[in-house]
Amino acid sequence: MDILNYIDGTLVGPRSDAWLDSVEPATGTVHARLPRSNADDVQAAVEAAERAFPMWSALTAAQRSEIMLAIARGIKERFDELAEAESMDQGKPVWLAKAMDIPRAVDNISFFATEILHTHTRAFETNTSVINYTLRQPIGVVGCISPWNLPLYLFTWKIAPALAAGNCVVAKPSELTPLTAFLFSQICIDAGLPPGVLNIVHGLGAECGKAIVAHPKTKAISFTGGTVTGADIARTAAPMFKKLSLELGGKNPTLVFADVDVDAVAKKVARASFTNQGEICLCGSRIFVQRPIYDAFKQALLREIATITVGDPRETTSRNGALVSEQHLEKVLSYIDLARAEGGTVLCGGERVHLEGRCANGYFVAPTLIEGLGTECRVNQEEIFGPVATIIPFDTEDEALRGANSTTYGLAASVWTNDVSRVHRVARLLESGIVWVNTWLERDLRTPFGGVKSSGVGREGGEEALRFFTEAKNVCIQF
Ligand code: NAD
Repeated sequence: MDILNYIDGTLVGPRSDAWLDSVEPATGTVHARLPRSNADDVQAAVEAAERAFPMWSALTAAQRSEIMLAIARGIKERFDELAEAESMDQGKPVWLAKAMDIPRAVDNISFFATEILHTHTRAFETNTSVINYTLRQPIGVVGCISPWNLPLYLFTWKIAPALAAGNCVVAKPSELTPLTAFLFSQICIDAGLPPGVLNIVHGLGAECGKAIVAHPKTKAISFTGGTVTGADIARTAAPMFKKLSLELGGKNPTLVFADVDVDAVAKKVARASFTNQGEICLCGSRIFVQRPIYDAFKQALLREIATITVGDPRETTSRNGALVSEQHLEKVLSYIDLARAEGGTVLCGGERVHLEGRCANGYFVAPTLIEGLGTECRVNQEEIFGPVATIIPFDTEDEALRGANSTTYGLAASVWTNDVSRVHRVARLLESGIVWVNTWLERDLRTPFGGVKSSGVGREGGEEALRFFTEAKNVCIQF
């Protein structure tokens, strides 16, 4: 199967005729090829976007909303096909793509399509003869670059507010998971999105992604991916004075206090650590447990992890599927080796899982829990982004907070306790953009989303995203 670029309303191959293989992680076999686009393809996409901008930005919010809602309906109509494609490309179970990724893609588009019907701007009365009002205007051509872990989910999370605000977009999905973005381009054509409003260019980050970031006509870049890549993008974009939203890596703490229901919370903590094979930037990878319940909680967590079946993503019985690529598999296994070298004890998992039949060559890793490592060791400092978590005892709230805040990251934290005062104290002191209390991954799309420290710059979600994708202009009138 050939995945094609979507430029100026049509599906086209790369100008250089260079292609990349797309591998199915559950089987290790090539299932498609995708364009290895370069700066020429990006140039064509930017030109198409520039041509479309005057028309798209001049539509009323209601007109843009109508087209975007048709796109959301198009996703729903191809729901099963999209879920199966996402699973094949990424390695996640089909049931999870149906429960999480594809519904969320629909929600992303519908949310921003309707949010723009309810926005307002502000006016400031300086005195009886001077009034100011603020316009929020679309920026022009913007670049959106997304990662492989939640492919269509994060791709639409960026594109939807950009388009809703009246911008034209040049977007690039991860080269590891291009398939649903390709299907999405077909859906946009069928929904009647005018040519050039959205352009999707496939290829490698260092080539195609970099060309989007470096292009003088892309005025804002919304990026989700690794922290090292984010720094590279900032180096290119900052001297060009582009607006930048960087959603980067995490090393998220889970804080379990002694007053909780051990069995019930262990179930939820296992989900927070291992959903999507641990390949969610929000997964809790460092589990801090208060000493009085440490042993009981550890045993309950191990019992829960034992129920996580690793298997063929097509099977409904598989709770976890394959890791996204062979390279990522090697990275995750190398961190498990490092944990042993740093003096950690692997309590469960700790190895590649070899399946029979169709998935014999797939990239599967058993959910792994490690204890005995200090907060400062590399395994507790660096993002692994796989089914690997550490468990660490603590005595006091201060100690838990010190451990939680000890990394350079600050994306999300979860706190498990029934003590209301503690909830408020701890939530204020955690260095992270998101704090969940007695829950995890509960998302209201109106809320600000993003990280602090090395987890990123800027916020997405709700009005924050619309603010990012518009420029404020003050109009001051003397009358
Ligand atoms: P990555 O940084 O390798 O790639 C992300 C995207 O950027 C891909 O499309 C890639 O092709 C592109 N890219 C790579 N180098 C580039 C460059 N120099 N210029 C422009 N584009 C470039 O990340 P990944 O491995 O795909 O994703 C995993 C990372 O994403 C993890 O660190 C994870 O925590 C992070 N992530 C963060 C969030 C969040 O919301 N904060 C969400 C999901 C994933």
